[in-house]
Amino acid sequence: MDIIPYNVNFVSKGQGLVNFGNTCYFNSILQCLLSCPSIFETLEAIKDKPYVKNNELFNELYSLSRLALDDVSIANKCAFIWRSVLNTAYHRKDRIHLDLGQQDAHEGLMMFLDVIDTIPEVRRLFEHRYLTQIWCDGCKKMIVSKRETNLVFEVQPDLKNEQHEQFKDVDQFYNQTMSMNDFLQKQNSYVDGFICSDCKDNNKKFRITTLTMIPEILPIVLKKYGEKQMTPFPAHLLFTHKGSDKKLLYMLVAQSEHSGSTQGGHYWAVCLRRDGWKLLNDSSVSDGAPGPTPNTYIVFYHFKGLQE
Ligand SMILES: [Zn+2]
Repeated sequence: MDIIPYNVNFVSKGQGLVNFGNTCYFNSILQCLLSCPSIFETLEAIKDKPYVKNNELFNELYSLSRLALDDVSIANKCAFIWRSVLNTAYHRKDRIHLDLGQQDAHEGLMMFLDVIDTIPEVRRLFEHRYLTQIWCDGCKKMIVSKRETNLVFEVQPDLKNEQHEQFKDVDQFYNQTMSMNDFLQKQNSYVDGFICSDCKDNNKKFRITTLTMIPEILPIVLKKYGEKQMTPFPAHLLFTHKGSDKKLLYMLVAQSEHSGSTQGGHYWAVCLRRDGWKLLNDSSVSDGAPGPTPNTYIVFYHFKGLQE
């Protein structure tokens, strides 16, 4: 198994970051990423590879990591990271949606993860895989089975599946609020407007997605619809380890928090660092406490190790 466990040697102390004008959403995301040591352990491991020499994003991230781990101020350094993310994104603006007016932490994270494909060893730390199977109610069998790779999890605020009563027999969590752990592992939803190639039935289809591969870092976006909703999430998550009795243990390491509307508002972060849980709000650093709040928007878990 080559999954990298949480290594405190690559966790820096909590430090503030300067807000360069509406960059609180990016500061919030960068603070969460700084709480994910496998990124910085990976950068250290690949620093002599020829291809990273001229990679601006690699150089900025590696330099940020070295300074932070040596307790040197990175307050202004965040601007260089953001600039190199934007530079890379700008040069491929034909490929991705680049809307700088949005200023949303989820968008900021997605932009970061999009440009991190120039450092595949880091991107891999976020890649998880689901197996999607579609069940046809006409011929009563699985008609589609495919694998999908994603980087960010998104969960419904009430941790319930979209469900239809006719499928309750194939849905073990029918009409139940699930734990975050169960929700991530298996989701069911209803599929519309899809004609089965076997029975030509265009009636109800049912989709089951099962988590089949899990990486080092799990960013989970807690979807919001209008009013602030509080989605429960635990301090730890456990997943089955294929071919072993042990479980893969994940720990909560960071939360991106948001107040205000979807059009604006303010972002900050609550992060586990070498000196404990910190509330990191742009330049301000104080002691923080993890756990669900009505403001929690994105939570980050990191692989900790195997549990008996
Ligand atoms: Zn069918």
